[in-house]
Amino acid sequence: MIASVIVDVPAKQIDRTFDYTVPASLQPVVQRGVRVIVPFGPRKIQGFILEIKHESSVKKLKPIEEVVDIEPVLNEELMSLSEWLTEQTLCYRISALQVMLPAAMKAKYHKLFFQLDHDIPDHIQSLFHTESPLSWKKADESGALKDLQELIKQRKVEMKYVVRQSMNVKKKRFVELTGTVTSGNIPGNARKQKQILEHLEAGEGKIAVADLKEIAQTTSAVIKTMIDKGYLKESFSEQYRDPFAERTFEKTDHFTLTPDQKKAITPIVEKVNQYEQQTFLLHGVTGSGKTEIYLQTIDQVLKQDRQAIMLVPEISLTPQMVQRFKGRFGDQVAVMHSGLSVGEKYDEWRKIHRGEVNVVVGARSAIFAPFKRLGVIIIDEEHETSYKQEDSPRYHARDVAIERSMRHGCPVILGSATPSLESFARAKKGNYQLLELEYRMNQQDLPEVKIIDMREELREGNRSMFSRDLLVEIEKRIERKEQIVLFLNRRGYSSFIMCRDCGTVMQCPHCEVSLTYHRYKESMKCHYCGFEEQVPNTCPECESEHIRYFGTGTQKVEEELFKLMPHVKTIRMDVDTTSKKGSHEKLLDAFGRGEADILLGTQMIAKGLDFPNITLVGVLSADTMLHLPDFRASEKTFQLLTQVSGRAGRHEKPGEVIIQTYTPEHFSIELAKTQNYEWFYQKEMMMRKTAQYPPFYFISLITLSHENVNKAAGVCNEIAEILKSRLSDQSIILGPVASPIARIQDKYRYQCMIKYKHEPELKLLLKKILDQYSDTGKDAVSINIDVQPYIMM
Ligand code: ADP
Ligand code: ZN
Ligand code: ZN
Repeated sequence: MIASVIVDVPAKQIDRTFDYTVPASLQPVVQRGVRVIVPFGPRKIQGFILEIKHESSVKKLKPIEEVVDIEPVLNEELMSLSEWLTEQTLCYRISALQVMLPAAMKAKYHKLFFQLDHDIPDHIQSLFHTESPLSWKKADESGALKDLQELIKQRKVEMKYVVRQSMNVKKKRFVELTGTVTSGNIPGNARKQKQILEHLEAGEGKIAVADLKEIAQTTSAVIKTMIDKGYLKESFSEQYRDPFAERTFEKTDHFTLTPDQKKAITPIVEKVNQYEQQTFLLHGVTGSGKTEIYLQTIDQVLKQDRQAIMLVPEISLTPQMVQRFKGRFGDQVAVMHSGLSVGEKYDEWRKIHRGEVNVVVGARSAIFAPFKRLGVIIIDEEHETSYKQEDSPRYHARDVAIERSMRHGCPVILGSATPSLESFARAKKGNYQLLELEYRMNQQDLPEVKIIDMREELREGNRSMFSRDLLVEIEKRIERKEQIVLFLNRRGYSSFIMCRDCGTVMQCPHCEVSLTYHRYKESMKCHYCGFEEQVPNTCPECESEHIRYFGTGTQKVEEELFKLMPHVKTIRMDVDTTSKKGSHEKLLDAFGRGEADILLGTQMIAKGLDFPNITLVGVLSADTMLHLPDFRASEKTFQLLTQVSGRAGRHEKPGEVIIQTYTPEHFSIELAKTQNYEWFYQKEMMMRKTAQYPPFYFISLITLSHENVNKAAGVCNEIAEILKSRLSDQSIILGPVASPIARIQDKYRYQCMIKYKHEPELKLLLKKILDQYSDTGKDAVSINIDVQPYIMM
């Protein structure tokens, strides 16, 4: 038996399988999708088995050293999906495999240990040492392998992984009587021990050590003595870490769907029942009842004993969102997002892997949840750019969702108030089925939107970042005891430090970007490379002392607000106030309880918020995003403004929105006033057509970077020449040009953009270019190819 193994080192030279022989002892456990330890050069490294075969073209093969898993960590569907992912995103195969597993399972960290149930036969017990991993070889030599496998199937032996020696599986410790002594015949006068025995004799079998300590008022030392003497026997059972342990979820029931909702859900449920793939685009403003449709679709899926993946953008995975799913489906729900600890994520993943839950609500990577019977995949806020992973593998969750749904025969629902242009265009063409929800559930009109021209304010002598109208409206809300959300677009808005005499802006010495001022440390930080430095006392150029920070960070807004309205209570939500785990929720809860009048924050408050008392939303500067070097700038601005506006007046009280801008005439700001998506779509489509961008053209982006600017540009030029000679005349090759951020971490960046409609050979060509130019040598130019880029930097 021979196994083809892909080793866990992402590098061009070894992006292929290597063959190993399988020792007889390992043959019963070796199969596709199982991880193994193999000798590789002088090292022993981990890898995935891709294939089992009986012949190899290589003569002298080394044997597999050890097997890590008892059953495949990736099932057949995910194994073949990884192949697809490799082709689609041009990544290394190992990266495509690794991205599907939780971080806790990263190769270099863990070893496999086993957890024994208490009544394991001795010949198997003897194979285990608590502090060293089990050896399959040893198990086979002693003739216990078959029995062991049987016990593992019955779950009497549990696998557990150890991360850097500390247990990654949380366990609970139990003790029970061994029967060697009773409370009546315990030697000596050990009163405490006698008491413990009495407790256990009165109880029934095992008791958690934590409980015993409490009940018998005893210490770990006493219990340990008793274990050592053989009076008690200890055992462990695996526990899941529950990030929501302290929260209770009220059970909620279905609403009776409105006729509109019924019309939308009917074709979806039909596809669920028929086990058919179909992508639906559910277009409806915030509050139109999309989530209720998701919930009821999932309910139908669960009734068929199938499973559901629900993706939401990281920042909208709020406690309120979790509440809605846990409240409806209880313990059936796993939650996956970056706020969880490595261990918590691992536990949630295992619940899915073991089939103990049937719904996952999670951010991007939850699209790889190892469900075996998918009945629906839902992507809420499908236009969000966070669904695209920016590191290798550079996948888009939407593409993965559609690919998986085809393998499972189930529908995909893409939901949004402002669908991406790509998706809406596909829906118009009939590739997706368009479902519309036109009204808000509470019959409430959309909030009234007022646009304030900040240039006008300036002309009138108002230099503050608050327009007069906004201040008046804030005051009104305060009087009425209603709440306000103030929104600040972080991107392009962070505070920078400038010398007022010579105009020098403090820049990162390694990147072509200005440094961001962080008040709490009096420091300046680069958001691209992490460089950090104290704010200088004098200008490095002219030595002037008139050096100060500009721009409007949330802290600065808070300060100015306090000066203008000292009586107002504000909760600020930004990277600084929410870096601690759970702080995000705490701040929102406090706002929900009415502990502040104003919630001030960045993007992270734009989504998911649903508080009945918010009647005013202020956008402090709408146009910062418009000026980014990104063809999606208008789309993102419109989406963001619509999103933010949706936070006002979600319940009985009507809402109002004030948008401050320096470019009120721009169509994406004008149209945000009426929130007319259809108009925006028409207008933006015309622009995209003229400028030859998606959805009229596909684009791929090749970026070269090197410390030497000529080298980066030179290689970029070579590649542009290759593309020009190989691609059709209809395709457009832009470049080489310097990237919008021309230098990051001391490396100059050059790029080449390909716009095309039909290039069936392009992926192959790009793969070739990648192979040819991805040299790992020390002085090599590094190359990155993004087949469908979302952020153009
Ligand atoms: P969306 O996801 O489009 O923002 P939601 O599903 O959250 O919309 O619905 C908005 C509000 O209306 C929520 O508070 C929800 O509980 C309520 N809701 C949704 N559907 C119904 C229904 N059929 N009957 C009554 N209330 C509903
Ligand atoms: Zn200066
Ligand atoms: Zn930097």
